[in-house]
Amino acid sequence: MDEFALIRRYFHHRQGEDVVLGPGDDAALLSPPAGEQLVMTLDTSVAGRHFPEDMPAADIGYRCLAVNLSDLAAMGATPRWFLLSLTLPEADPDWLRDFSAGLFELADQAGISLVGGDVTRGPLNIAIQATGSVLPGRALRRDGARPGQTLAVTGVPGLGGMGLRHWRAGVRDSQSARHFARPWPALEWGMALSGRAGAALDVSDGLLQDLGHILSASGDLGAELVLADLPVNDELAALEAEDRWALQLSGGDDYGLLFTWPAGVAVPAGARAIGRITDGPGVRLHYPDGRVSDAEPGGWRHF
Ligand code: ADP
Ligand code: MG
Repeated sequence: MDEFALIRRYFHHRQGEDVVLGPGDDAALLSPPAGEQLVMTLDTSVAGRHFPEDMPAADIGYRCLAVNLSDLAAMGATPRWFLLSLTLPEADPDWLRDFSAGLFELADQAGISLVGGDVTRGPLNIAIQATGSVLPGRALRRDGARPGQTLAVTGVPGLGGMGLRHWRAGVRDSQSARHFARPWPALEWGMALSGRAGAALDVSDGLLQDLGHILSASGDLGAELVLADLPVNDELAALEAEDRWALQLSGGDDYGLLFTWPAGVAVPAGARAIGRITDGPGVRLHYPDGRVSDAEPGGWRHF
């Protein structure tokens, strides 16, 4: 199978009406929605580093797109188009069929069109560039936090770290392991919060580290974080407290949104208030027994 047959076979898929010309020409031709701003992101996933080598191809396809869509979600954007750069050790038809099935399953759910890309030979590496759009002034940014605002999350911090732990232990059917393989990007949340939240980002590197990005972007602010208010699932709830906090605060791969919200206003149903923004600097952790301690910048001391 030559490169062009491979692209036609596995990567020509139905496209949105905002695609004038998709894969097949020298470049894609697109119609951006009138008056909207474009939101662009790129993430590269390397086998063994960003996903386990033994992950099924369908999950790899799903997950590589999901991490990009999560960035669009975190900007409050509507997903539109993506480009796929695929570096493959070999053209294995079974692998390609499964990979593209997982990829397009999520693409169709999210309403995003594959409009082009590149295929080369080499160690497995998947880069996706995704573009969305947002009305001017409505993008969710990291620099919009203000002292006094409520700090809130969607999803379950620690689920990604728990899922990786399960995956490594050979557990594939737990809620966390399924979330790890197929994280759902918080697209509906991003659009719901756009124009309303102060600051927002998606939690990909762990809650504390990502909170640090909001605090520094918003001008060296600080935060109070109430550990008892962090959402959990049954699998996290079953862990020893210290172990659970380590995953919740520093686990990574959660892909929920962390955002700030006007003081005194209830956060939207389904999100959870977990603390508040202060003049800072630094993050103070409030333990269930009343103890308060400073979080290590960028991480959790037990991790
Ligand atoms: P060129 O050599 O002109 O850069 P390519 O051979 O890289 O062309 O690509 C030919 C066409 O196929 C282009 O329209 C490109 O966007 C598309 N394409 C290449 N790889 C992929 C892919 N993985 N998924 C979708 N379209 C692809
Ligand atoms: Mg060309």
